[in-house]
Amino acid sequence: MSEETCQCPDCQRFYKEHDRLIREFPTFKQQQELNWASIQSFRTLCSRVINEMQRQLSERESNENEILKKNDISDKEISEALEELESANAYLYSIEALMEKIFDTKIPNNIEDKFKEIAKELAPDPLNVDRLILDRLFHQTPDFPDKKNIN
Ligand SMILES: [Zn+2]
Repeated sequence: MSEETCQCPDCQRFYKEHDRLIREFPTFKQQQELNWASIQSFRTLCSRVINEMQRQLSERESNENEILKKNDISDKEISEALEELESANAYLYSIEALMEKIFDTKIPNNIEDKFKEIAKELAPDPLNVDRLILDRLFHQTPDFPDKKNIN
């Protein structure tokens, strides 16, 4: 076995969350709803922040007011962050389009029972294959938001 799960605090927190989402949302339908809501909330929040930052930037450009200048975020920082966020938002739109396709899928109840059964097996297992794949994806993400707040 060449695969080993990383045990750093970020990954441990991620495994815990991963299992919790399987335990608490053990059917196909629940996962559909959970992920749909998750993508939507992410995109809503990103869009609002982008709008707010664009507004701020255009206000600064048209107004040489000292109060605005004193703000601790520079125009350059805002512009750079905007670029990043707009690109992330474009990806979120794409994911949303794919999620819509997944949302159209309907699963019969007896198959949902299978989901519940498998969820019970998966959630307590610290070495399942899906988790190893997610673990790897997670490690490709350079900055996880709460990185500095662990322990
Ligand atoms: Zn790790």
